[in-house]
Amino acid sequence: MIVSKFGGTSVGTYEAMQRSAKIVAADSDRRLIVISATSGTTNDLVALSASQLNSTMREELLGNIEKRHLEIIGHCKDQEHVRDRFYTEFSKLREHLDFVGRDKRWKDQLYAYGEMMSTRIFVEVLKENGVDAEWLDAREIMKTDSTFGNAEPNLVSIKKKADKLLQKEKIYLTQGFIGSDVFGNTTTLGRGGSDFSASLFAEVVGADTLEIWTDVAGVFTTDPRIVPNAHPIYEITFDEAAELSVFGGKVLHPATLKPAIRGGVNVRVASSSDPDKPGTYIVEDAEKKPPIRAISLRKDQTLLTVNSLEMLHQHGFLAHLFKVLAEHKISVDLVSTSEVSVALTLDTAVNAANKVELTDDVLDELGHFAEIIVEKDLALIALIGNNLQKTSGIGGPLFTALENYNVRLICHGASPNNLCFLIDLDQAEDVVRMLHEKFITE
Ligand code: ADP
Ligand code: ASP
Ligand code: MG
Repeated sequence: MIVSKFGGTSVGTYEAMQRSAKIVAADSDRRLIVISATSGTTNDLVALSASQLNSTMREELLGNIEKRHLEIIGHCKDQEHVRDRFYTEFSKLREHLDFVGRDKRWKDQLYAYGEMMSTRIFVEVLKENGVDAEWLDAREIMKTDSTFGNAEPNLVSIKKKADKLLQKEKIYLTQGFIGSDVFGNTTTLGRGGSDFSASLFAEVVGADTLEIWTDVAGVFTTDPRIVPNAHPIYEITFDEAAELSVFGGKVLHPATLKPAIRGGVNVRVASSSDPDKPGTYIVEDAEKKPPIRAISLRKDQTLLTVNSLEMLHQHGFLAHLFKVLAEHKISVDLVSTSEVSVALTLDTAVNAANKVELTDDVLDELGHFAEIIVEKDLALIALIGNNLQKTSGIGGPLFTALENYNVRLICHGASPNNLCFLIDLDQAEDVVRMLHEKFITE
């Protein structure tokens, strides 16, 4: 059995939906189809959730969403029926905007309409292609905790629900990204979370393969939008791909690979507009394991420096610091320490899967026992590969290549699969291009 996930651009227009539906129709093993919202819709919904929205802006955003979907529906065979289905969701979305109390729970409920609308339409396009899929509300299966915006799936409940609700011989179409907590509230798995949903589904149904259909022909040596001559990687290990996704390779949500590894599911990333290209196979053990396989970039990072003379010859300081961060659910990426200071990087990018919010509360609390410096507008670049902690001969050329740039923090040795550093945001893309040319193209 194959679980196939189609991202936003793969269902963003009628033509894209047709191409994706044809992929589903081409192999009867594709039996659980997971899709995202049409591309741009989740961003519009996020914009709609802003508290300072006036009615003109609100109508404009709603208008964009409506137009995007009606444009697709306009090509469908059974237009009236599809339009009906669409408007049921769209009207609920409109009503939802009138509720007061725009908390995180309210936001997750709002964001879910993106996937609700896209699946309502895609199920019909599948039908046009001879695929009679049953539409399924993912919230019935994807049970999570109540961390709105970044919910943690509850694997045991998900497995139970899947066993109960899914029948072997049927084909299902469902939503990525969304779930529900024990109270039935809608939750979401973080931006880009449809990949993660699909992988969890693949694990619990015992799928052989998880396919991630997207707008690029696989996992590339770096983001092809930044480096046009980046090329697809035919085979990459789970470990490398996991590091790549955590360090900014947007092509996969950072949590995607864990369920696949646990479930022994093969993963393939391919382009829905070019399905005959091989794409990328993510495997346990790859034939080739170069020291540097890819470069990833994560923008909008924040560097938090915590200075305290009390740290000198003290014990317990780091524990205290991390306790405060943990209490505020702040996840830390890189850490570098000296005798009296600790520097930490945080992912504060707007669309980050695990976006960190550095609130005044946290800063106040930290301020009680240390001096805090917050620096924004930084970027994290990671070289992804194999045995990087042991490979000699990379540090020298890397430091020489970075000579003229303002490198802030380096992390080398913690993982065999990555070597990363922090740099000014406005230099980041140039550095990625330069390093790609030097370490990959050559
Ligand atoms: P989807 O909507 O299908 O989930 P995303 O936009 O989330 O698609 O992810 C695909 C995008 O990820 C590509 O268009 C590309 O710009 C970006 N990307 C970043 N790094 C990489 C990489 N190493 N390989 C491929 N794509 C990458
Ligand atoms: N629609 C959601 C987002 O844009 C989830 C996804 O696309 O994976 O973040
Ligand atoms: Mg994505």
